[in-house]
Amino acid sequence: VFLVDYHIHPYSHGEENIKKMYSEELLKSFILEARKREINEIGFSDHDELIEDIDWKMMKEIKEEYGKIKLGIEFDFSPDKTRLKWIKNNLKKLPLDYSIGSVHFIEDWAFDHPDYIEEYQKYNIDELYCTYFDLLKEAVSTGLFQVVGHLDLIKIFGFKPKQVKVVDLVTPVLKEVKKRGMVIEINTNGLNKPVKEIYPSINILKMAYKLDIPVTLGSDAHEPQRTGENIKMAARIITDIGYSKIAVFNNKEISLKEIDN
Ligand SMILES: [Zn+2]
Ligand SMILES: [Zn+2]
Repeated sequence: VFLVDYHIHPYSHGEENIKKMYSEELLKSFILEARKREINEIGFSDHDELIEDIDWKMMKEIKEEYGKIKLGIEFDFSPDKTRLKWIKNNLKKLPLDYSIGSVHFIEDWAFDHPDYIEEYQKYNIDELYCTYFDLLKEAVSTGLFQVVGHLDLIKIFGFKPKQVKVVDLVTPVLKEVKKRGMVIEINTNGLNKPVKEIYPSINILKMAYKLDIPVTLGSDAHEPQRTGENIKMAARIITDIGYSKIAVFNNKEISLKEIDN
């Protein structure tokens, strides 16, 4: 079996204690955990706010030394023009194998953060879902990213729409993903959140399979022990749906590899 974990945050959110220990040692702890869990290939994909703090030279050395390691970044999408320009510049400058495009903010609200959960009261959940998937479609249509991060993140706290159907909101997003030749990740971190589901839902994955959209796997680990968490289960879910291959990345090129090799 060939397994990957392409969504790993060694630097987490740049908390002070982690910052101090950011080193080859720290990266190694993620690599060793991946080996323990029989993950064949991993990708480091810290949040874009940390781009300046990452030692890219060291990252390249680690890649050389250990092999089967890819370099990525998880970009926060917002429709702001200056920000898009900044993303483009970084995509040119950094030695990336792939980039993940994610929506974490609606206006200035970090809707996936437990500290701001009370903000949900201010919104009509139906409208919120519409806004989220519109933003995601916009992120996809920039053509800047290879991977769509946690596609239905808006369900994180279990707030579900009443009138609108998620299928109807997701269809245009998936069509755009197909058009742009992008990949969807199965992100297992949703299992640790109040919603207790993978991102995206199995229904959405079935839609993606019908549209022939490739998938990859990620744990969204922010600490070494979570590397590869539930990745085997995610692989089983996609093979049950019909997928036999997963996407791997090299210098922003996507290729497909047999899961059962
Ligand atoms: Zn994210
Ligand atoms: Zn992440």
